[in-house]
Amino acid sequence: MTDFTGLRAVVTGGASGIGLAAASLLAARGAQVVVFDLKPDVPEPLNGIAADVSDDASVRAAVSAAALRLGGIDILVNNAGIGAQGTVATNDDDEWHRVLDVNVVGIARVSRAVLPYLKRSEAAAIVNTCSIAATAGLPNRALYSASKGAVLALTMAMAADHVREGIRVNCVNPGTADTPWVGRLLDAAADSATERANLEARQPMGRLVTADEVAQAIVYLASPLAGSTTGTALAVDGGMQNL
Ligand code: NAD
Repeated sequence: MTDFTGLRAVVTGGASGIGLAAASLLAARGAQVVVFDLKPDVPEPLNGIAADVSDDASVRAAVSAAALRLGGIDILVNNAGIGAQGTVATNDDDEWHRVLDVNVVGIARVSRAVLPYLKRSEAAAIVNTCSIAATAGLPNRALYSASKGAVLALTMAMAADHVREGIRVNCVNPGTADTPWVGRLLDAAADSATERANLEARQPMGRLVTADEVAQAIVYLASPLAGSTTGTALAVDGGMQNL
């Protein structure tokens, strides 16, 4: 088990689901953790700072506040993301811009503000939350898939750009994870219990991925155990990508 004592982490979208699980696991391993979220209500010992990753001024203010509070930043988990259903026939330009601005430009925006601190760290790592949607060709998820395909490409490009600065950049590709996000989608169905049972039955393991399982992968990639790993995507999808 890696000890993160003395390391300082920022987790975006860390007030719910995968981000909250990753922030909590980093803190349990000894890291000091700041969570950025729209509504940063987080349990102790996490520190919440209100930030919107689609707003550059908000991001820059939050990063300055986090660095001041933590005395620097070693680890950045770019996890904030939003979903979108639809096809190119149904999603209009406003929706494309809104989702790409959070899921893709949000990562660039937060990383740009955090990089000066990572360059001064001896254990610098960025982990982006991508998705199997990046490569799976999911129906009715054109915009979301395009956004996550961009996250995958961005992860590899960032890894190349910053490897000589001692900054590793990787991503995790979750399958369908049991988070409040998926809960909201199921709640919207006419019969949410049947919808959940059908969703579980479609998974190779017969169950959804847990947020903790994704968090374990994020924490591994952020840790010195992954010291020679950069520019990769680690799937946590219950075997979904093999179908
Ligand atoms: P979630 O909705 O439970 O949590 C997402 C968090 O991000 C929320 O707290 C939300 O407030 C925050 N957020 C949204 N927009 C933001 C913004 N503009 N600025 C700051 N924070 C913002 O969702 P989750 O399922 O935990 O998803 C987290 C990440 O995992 C997302 O990037 C998502 O695309 C990815 N993912 C999820 C699944 C899944 O099945 N749950 C699968 C693959 C990938």
